Amino acid sequence: MPRTKFVLIGSGLAGGLLAAYLGRRGHDVDLYERRADPREGNIVGGRSINLAISTRGIHALEQIGIADEALQHAIPMRGRTIHDKSGALHFTPYDVDPKKCINSIGRASLNTTVIEAAQRYPNVRVHFNNRCTDVDLDLAVAHLETANGTETVRGDAVIGVDGAFSAVRKSMQQKIGNFQYDESYLAHGYKELTIPPGPDGSWRIEKNALHIWPRKSFMMIALPNPDGSFTCTLFWEFEGSRSFATTKTDDDVRQFFDDEFQDAVPLMPTLLEDFRQNPTGSLVTIRCAPWFYRDKVCLLGDAAHAVVPFYGQGMNAAFEDCVVLDECLEKFPNNRERAFTEYFSRRKENADALADLAIGNFIEMRDKTTSRAFRAKKRLDHFLEAALPGIYLPLYTMVTFTRIPYSVAAKRARAQDMLVYTSLIVISAILIGVAAFLVAH
Ligand SMILES: Cc1cc2nc3c(=O)[nH]c(=O)nc-3n(C[C@H](O)[C@H](O)[C@H](O)COP(=O)(O)OP(=O)(O)OC[C@H]3O[C@@H](n4cnc5c(N)ncnc54)[C@H](O)[C@@H]3O)c2cc1C
Repeated sequence: MPRTKFVLIGSGLAGGLLAAYLGRRGHDVDLYERRADPREGNIVGGRSINLAISTRGIHALEQIGIADEALQHAIPMRGRTIHDKSGALHFTPYDVDPKKCINSIGRASLNTTVIEAAQRYPNVRVHFNNRCTDVDLDLAVAHLETANGTETVRGDAVIGVDGAFSAVRKSMQQKIGNFQYDESYLAHGYKELTIPPGPDGSWRIEKNALHIWPRKSFMMIALPNPDGSFTCTLFWEFEGSRSFATTKTDDDVRQFFDDEFQDAVPLMPTLLEDFRQNPTGSLVTIRCAPWFYRDKVCLLGDAAHAVVPFYGQGMNAAFEDCVVLDECLEKFPNNRERAFTEYFSRRKENADALADLAIGNFIEMRDKTTSRAFRAKKRLDHFLEAALPGIYLPLYTMVTFTRIPYSVAAKRARAQDMLVYTSLIVISAILIGVAAFLVAH
């Protein structure tokens, strides 16, 4: 295979991993990141402190031999613990198989792991404090702002792994005539808060669960950290009579939390400081097409398809992109444009399906998880999964615990639901008929 010089923009989660994959194939890789080296204590700013990694993401790490290293401090979460307003708790396992769990992992440490994996290849170089401002698509040239001024770097191809607000994508938008672009913001923002460890360093609520305080139009969640703390995320409307906009003073904040998250408040001694100091982030879905320009430029991860975080799949999907792009480059070693074309056609439909699933899951998490009907449906899902192994797979299981393409999982779940609901209607009709017959005779 000819050795290609790849210029990668962005060494976030997917950038580091992609550099490792390309490095393993023997390509020359220069990875440019606008931030400082995360190992120098720079927190990967503005994004979640921890994330949930599941089968797709773990598979991508396994393929490059770093899953054990990455997961050594991850905390398995076996299901959802729902905190209702009265403080009562309901636990729903994620799967009928108690061994199937998602894992809470620190963003900064995972970022470091993938960057270090890439740097083990002598043909990969990582350059921090280099911000891409523009890309010349035809020449595969990236313009950078560095500590000492500006610089221009040229590759055989530039890959934009620079997140939801990608500079590489912006250059494509400006220069490709028929480039399709759609961004849609939720009316909700998010703010991270903390439940610190107990005095003995232990977790003050169930460690092996993802905690949810669903409150219909908004919610708070909490994921465990290895140091005994939890990172809570409040997803709440930006505007409205009770919202981020109207909750300004410490008294307002305290009142809101006392009303809505009574059982959490005693566990959050720094609530007021956290609320004041931590930024309020926005939540965006980005769809665009195409994800490549000739054999010169390509997009991957959030740069190609940012999704809202409610299925816990954005990073998992970005890692899956790395596996697929690597497979396509292997399949077409002498034709990068065909590799990019195949990568795009394999991933686009799935990214779109995930975007819809992620928005749907917000409504499920914040609203439906409290209802008895929801819990009954989950029990029915688990019953059918156990009774019909390999035939019936709940949607959550397909998305989280398999590598079935997202679009296939969504279609299959719709067909299954249709079959189950039709069967329930038919069975109910038969039972009513039998009962009526018995009463009449
Ligand atoms: C609140 C929240 C919770 C989430 N939880 C989960 C979860 O539980 N599970 C999950 O799978 N996903 C989750 N996600 C989604 C996940 O964070 C993203 O999908 C993932 O980070 C995408 O990785 P990426 O490498 O494509 O982008 P990023 O991680 O955003 O990395 C992009 C990198 O590019 C750099 N960069 C940007 N612009 C430039 C430039 N011009 N020049 C040079 N460098 C640049 C950035 O500094 C950054 O390092 C969550 C997201 C949010 C907001």
